[in-house]
Amino acid sequence: MNNTSKISQESTNHEARIIQINDHVLGFYYGRGLTGKSGYESNPENWINKGAWDLGIASYAVYRGDSALIFDSSTSPECGLWIRRYLDEKLGIKDIIVVLSHWHLDHIAGLSAFKDCQIYALEATAECLRQNRVAIETGNLWGPPGIPVIMPTQTFSDSLDINIGDIAIQFRHYRIHSHDGLAMLICSDRALYAGDMLEDPISYIVEPGDIPTHLKELSHLQQLSFASIFPSHGSFEIIANGGYEKSLIAAIIEYNRNMLRHVHDNDYLNLTIENMIPQALKTGAVSIWESYRSVHRDNLHRVYEHWHVF
Ligand SMILES: [Zn+2]
Repeated sequence: MNNTSKISQESTNHEARIIQINDHVLGFYYGRGLTGKSGYESNPENWINKGAWDLGIASYAVYRGDSALIFDSSTSPECGLWIRRYLDEKLGIKDIIVVLSHWHLDHIAGLSAFKDCQIYALEATAECLRQNRVAIETGNLWGPPGIPVIMPTQTFSDSLDINIGDIAIQFRHYRIHSHDGLAMLICSDRALYAGDMLEDPISYIVEPGDIPTHLKELSHLQQLSFASIFPSHGSFEIIANGGYEKSLIAAIIEYNRNMLRHVHDNDYLNLTIENMIPQALKTGAVSIWESYRSVHRDNLHRVYEHWHVF
């Protein structure tokens, strides 16, 4: 079976919503009904829509002069290409460095547009891409579509510091959401770019056995000094209005803690997002986005399968 879907050109628009975060950071936002279609809708189960477009996805560029660093490459080859053209044509960017937040497909899918650039990633990220390369390219890992895998050109084990002009950017490894999680910090902006470590309203749980580690690492993240959070998946309005507050971390802690705490409840598989994060919803730290209902259902099953002792 050939799982490689052909992109539909009909009513497809890869124009991102641009978020000018400050004079040196841009966000490129897709989905949540705010942009055109991904072009992969002919298969309703495709991971681009289910895992990113329906939830909303942002990637970020830090730039000065004609240099830029992009944190993640967006969610499809076409989106990556659109962002590359934007950087070139609108901002006159000539030198681009890419850094990956983790290996998940909705973060690496745009890399084919940046294959002539330096691509930095944790060694663990490169290892996952190496191991899963064939399955990713044939659309057999998360299902269709298959996408080209472009390997990182530089790897590191824990932390990385890069300057773009006078902007100092730190990358730090936290085992949150994925064992190869990498956060971007711009200290002069007091800003944390969290990849998938933090999402609004709930996190995608794909490594359920590591939830205790994720919780410990989330408390380390909480101790860092910053004022605003820019996640990959969240509300366009909040990201465009200065980002999330630290209460987003507390919301994700509440979710993960309760997903584990209730795993032996009789009605566990019927518990709702509202059951899991009453506090975060009450304070307004996050708000329900309907497309996350299916993420939550999948999370319940994965956590149950791993942690439920019969
Ligand atoms: Zn992810």
